[in-house]
Amino acid sequence: MWRALFDNVYVEKGIADDPETKRILERIGCEEPGLIEHYKDVFDSGSVKSPEIRNLILAKNPGKHLYEGAPVCQSFGNEHFYYSPGVMNCIYDCEYCFLKGMYPGSDICIFTDLEETFSEIDALLEEHPVYVCASYNTDLTALESITGYVRRWCKKAAETEGLSVELRSKCARTDIYGDLPVSDRVIFAFTLSPDEIRDRFEKGTPDLGARINALNAAMNAGFPVRICFDPMIYVRNWREIYSAMVEKVASETDLSKVRDISIGTFRISDQYLKNMRKKFGESAVAQYPYVNENGYYRYPDVVRNAMEDQIKNLLTVKCPGTGIFDWE
Ligand code: SF4
Repeated sequence: MWRALFDNVYVEKGIADDPETKRILERIGCEEPGLIEHYKDVFDSGSVKSPEIRNLILAKNPGKHLYEGAPVCQSFGNEHFYYSPGVMNCIYDCEYCFLKGMYPGSDICIFTDLEETFSEIDALLEEHPVYVCASYNTDLTALESITGYVRRWCKKAAETEGLSVELRSKCARTDIYGDLPVSDRVIFAFTLSPDEIRDRFEKGTPDLGARINALNAAMNAGFPVRICFDPMIYVRNWREIYSAMVEKVASETDLSKVRDISIGTFRISDQYLKNMRKKFGESAVAQYPYVNENGYYRYPDVVRNAMEDQIKNLLTVKCPGTGIFDWE
């Protein structure tokens, strides 16, 4: 099944014989990948020339394995906040995704040297606690059948004092959570959107009900769960659809057991938005007249405040004791 999702599978020559490479290829069902010198040979050009093509690349990360969190990302009060670029690009196709402005095409690159990331974390832990968003440049849970990285992050966090990990996802899988090493140091974060937003802007993603089922499964397995109403996307009937979404979530999950909730309207760095505007001339999200503040585009205050205040007010009534974070 997985092989059919990719037009071509490429492996860097330098890791072709590694056990990790072979394990992933076996999971995909690929016996003869194309061999390349460097992931950029494909990643920087393959699906750029033909956007309908999506290749899979296995590679060794030649750069840093951890980066400090960007200003537009919420740190949830964690002073030492990092993200891991262990997989680049996503199996889903959200129109507003910043990855469309960050990466040249839609190829997915899996770095097979996850242990190097863990070594960098261990070095940082000598100095201070570490909070890592491990699913920042991808949806790691959606790729778990290929990579097994969710399991490895859970194991690492369970074994490592001082390390906290956030795994953010829109994936509807409910079958993995009961079988993972449970730890209160792994936060499964679920991005929830009204189905109208999903249908229009989140191609390939599960619907709201399926995502709620998945978050219930993670919570029932004993993991802390974060709900992310972020990014909220402006549409004409936003008041109705976001209110209805909160009602549905409140009726189908126990919000008092959720660890915390994040809210935020769409924002993006100016360079990424410029890239997206060039690539996606017809995209309503990319072409919206945002305001630029300190290098980041966002909705005008009147729109942003109205949307965020409404959802915050609704949630304050539905779950008065639950922490609600916004991004400022
Ligand atoms: S699920 Fe997240 S990472 Fe994947 S395309 Fe959508 S916004 Fe981007």
